[in-house]
Amino acid sequence: MIQLAVFGEPIRHSLSPQIHQQFAEQAGLRIDYRRILTPPEQLTKNFQRFVKEGGVGANITLPLKELALTLADELDPLVQQTGALNTLRQVGNKWLGSNTDGVGLVKDLQRFCGPLTGMRVLLIGAGGAARGVAPPLVAAGIEHLHVVNRTPERAEQLVRSIFQASEPVSAGALTSMPNPHFDIVINATASGLQQERPPISERVLRGKPLCYDMVYGDKATAFMQWATGHGCKVQDGLGMLIGQAAESFRLWTGVTPDTSSVMALLRRQNGLWSAP
Ligand code: NAP
Repeated sequence: MIQLAVFGEPIRHSLSPQIHQQFAEQAGLRIDYRRILTPPEQLTKNFQRFVKEGGVGANITLPLKELALTLADELDPLVQQTGALNTLRQVGNKWLGSNTDGVGLVKDLQRFCGPLTGMRVLLIGAGGAARGVAPPLVAAGIEHLHVVNRTPERAEQLVRSIFQASEPVSAGALTSMPNPHFDIVINATASGLQQERPPISERVLRGKPLCYDMVYGDKATAFMQWATGHGCKVQDGLGMLIGQAAESFRLWTGVTPDTSSVMALLRRQNGLWSAP
């Protein structure tokens, strides 16, 4: 039995156990994947207990992605660059930290757009999720990434701290967009959880970009409804969630699972929004 877990707070609604159980059934592996409710001050203690009980792999979610760096003996280059991890795996007597959010997002975007080469991308948000996905987006060959945030200094800080001046990345405020032509607009803010949308100008929808919200739930977010109302294709973040889980599963077991069957099942079983 492979002992796995996800640590976070809140954690009750996490779909990760359901996703990984599906992957394990596909791979013919037996796993025990638990949710472990973990406020920041209990992370070290809970993780140590999990290891003692035979844990070999873990996911880390809100609000622990930065704090969890202290649990790893080694960090992969992306985690070193972004300062956030979502996956820990035991190799020998060491724990290695990775971030699979970006792989999950890029693969999901490629399902809709094909290769991302040459695309102009607007990333809204400058929290942990935006930090984790910005380098993989640029590495996927996009032409330009513009990062905006409610608190613009955080967007500027994200770009300054992660990228070289020569890279095709810029930052700014939600309300000022120098060149508003984008192929993809990604909402990486938590606004959808508050039934709000980031107050960006509808000018960014002029070229009918794919509008992608990292949030998922039983109905379209306010951002998705707004974009649909302007004739854009929209997508929620369930594919990213399943994609990051698939990459974690591959790191733990060496098996790359099929994600499309799991996506359909999850939407059906949990009554989640589906594209009309
Ligand atoms: P975070 O570190 O707490 O950052 C929150 C971000 O949202 C900040 O940029 C914040 O702006 C912005 N924000 C919050 N409320 C807003 C509002 N009403 N209007 C405009 N901006 C607002 O959170 P995170 O880890 O980056 O996660 C962001 C979202 O992505 C969450 O909803 C999370 O569930 C989702 N997510 C999904 C996946 C997936 O697999 N689908 C993976 C990771 C995260 P300020 O800086 O101005 O406060």
